[in-house]
Amino acid sequence: MSKYLSSDFKLGIICGGQLGKMLGLAAANWDVSTHVLDANEDCPAAKVCNEYTKGHHTDFDAVYAFGKKVDLITFEIEHVNIEALKKLKSEGKAIFPDPELLETIKDKGLQKLFYQKHNIPTSNFELYENADQILAAIKEGKLQYPFVQKSRTDGYDGKGVAVIQSEKDLELILPVPSVVEDAVAIEKEIAISIARNQKGEMALYPLVEMEFSETANLVEFLSCPANVSESIEKEAISLAIKIAEALDLVGILAVELFLDKQGNLSVNECAPRTHNSGHHTIENNYTSQFEQQIRAVLNLPLGSTKMKSPAVMINLLGEDNYSGPVYYEGFEEIMQMEGVHPHIYGKSTTKPFRKMGHITIVDDSLENAIEKAREVKEKIKVISR
Ligand code: ADP
Repeated sequence: MSKYLSSDFKLGIICGGQLGKMLGLAAANWDVSTHVLDANEDCPAAKVCNEYTKGHHTDFDAVYAFGKKVDLITFEIEHVNIEALKKLKSEGKAIFPDPELLETIKDKGLQKLFYQKHNIPTSNFELYENADQILAAIKEGKLQYPFVQKSRTDGYDGKGVAVIQSEKDLELILPVPSVVEDAVAIEKEIAISIARNQKGEMALYPLVEMEFSETANLVEFLSCPANVSESIEKEAISLAIKIAEALDLVGILAVELFLDKQGNLSVNECAPRTHNSGHHTIENNYTSQFEQQIRAVLNLPLGSTKMKSPAVMINLLGEDNYSGPVYYEGFEEIMQMEGVHPHIYGKSTTKPFRKMGHITIVDDSLENAIEKAREVKEKIKVISR
C-alpha cells in the first residue's frame, strides 16, 4: 500500500465530472496522486485532482497519450475509446476495470447478450440495426406494444431510451442500432453496488430503492435501505455476485434491477463505476463507493460497507427554464437542518435538469429522512439570476 501514498505513483482518472471529483477527493485522503483527463478544463474534477490534461475521452490519441503518463487507469464513464485502452493494456498498463469488460457493458446490445449467455434474468430483447427494421417487425406482428427501445451506445440518464406504448409513440423511435426489449411492469427500481479486487474479494452495499422523475428521467429520491423482502435482497446479492464474477470485475459495479408487479427480479443494466445510486455512501456507510473504487483498483483490502443509519439522496437538478451562471437559492436554509449534507459539483452554469449536485439526508428513521428530504427539495432551487 505504502507505494501509493505520498509517492510518484499516479492514478489516472478518465473524465472529470462529479464522479471523478468525488473519486479525486477520496484519493486525496490518502495522498494518492490523481491525474484527470477531460475535454473541459473547468470540469468538477480538475479542481481537486493533482493534475489535469485536456483531451476527449473518446479520442484515441488523447486517451493513449494520457495513459502513457499515469501508472494505473480507471474511469468514471463508460464511453471511453476502447482501442486506446486495449493498446495501453497490450503494452502492460494497468487498467481497472478491464477494457474488455468495458467493451461489453458500454454496448447495451452486448450487455444483454452477456446476461442471456450467463442465465441472468433480464427482459426479453431483440437487436435492430435501424428504425425501418423495427417498423417492419411491428408490421409483421413480430414485435408487440408496449416495448422499450435503447440506443446500443452513448445513452445516459434516460437519453437514448424510448418507451413505445402504442402506435402514437412511433415518432419517438431512435434512428440508431438499438436493443428493443419488453416493457416491464415495474413495481420498484432498485440497485446494488458491488466492489471486487484482483484477489477476488468482494464487498456489497445495502440495496437502495429509486424513484424516478418522469420529466427529467433522473433519480428523484433514493432511499436506503430499500423496502424489499429478505428473499429479494438475497436474490439481488446473488445476481450482483454472479455478474461481478462472470465479468471478472476489478473495481466497482452498480447493478440496476427491476422488481416487477409479479415479484420477479430482473437486471436492467450495469455500470462498471461509481454511480448516482451510491452517492449517499459518502456519509452513510463505513466506506464510500469512491474510497471503495480506489481500494479495489489498487488491490487493497475492501472496506466495510456497513450502513451507519438510514439515508435519502436527492439529486440537485437545474430548474426548468433557467440557463446560465448558477445560483443556489435556499442553500443557507437547508444548512440549518440536522443531517442534511449538500454536495455542489462545481459546474459554473446551470441548464434545465442538469445534475448540479446532490444532497444526502441521514436520520435515525427512514420515514424522517424521507420527510426531511421533501422539505429540502421544496427549499433549494438551482437557478440563474
Ligand atoms: P440509462 O442508461 O439512460 O439510465 P436505462 O436503461 O436505465 O437508461 O433506462 C432508463 C429508465 O427507463 C429506467 O430507469 C426505467 O425507468 C425505464 N426503463 C428502462 N428499461 C425498461 C423496461 N424494459 N421496461 C420498463 N421501463 C424501462
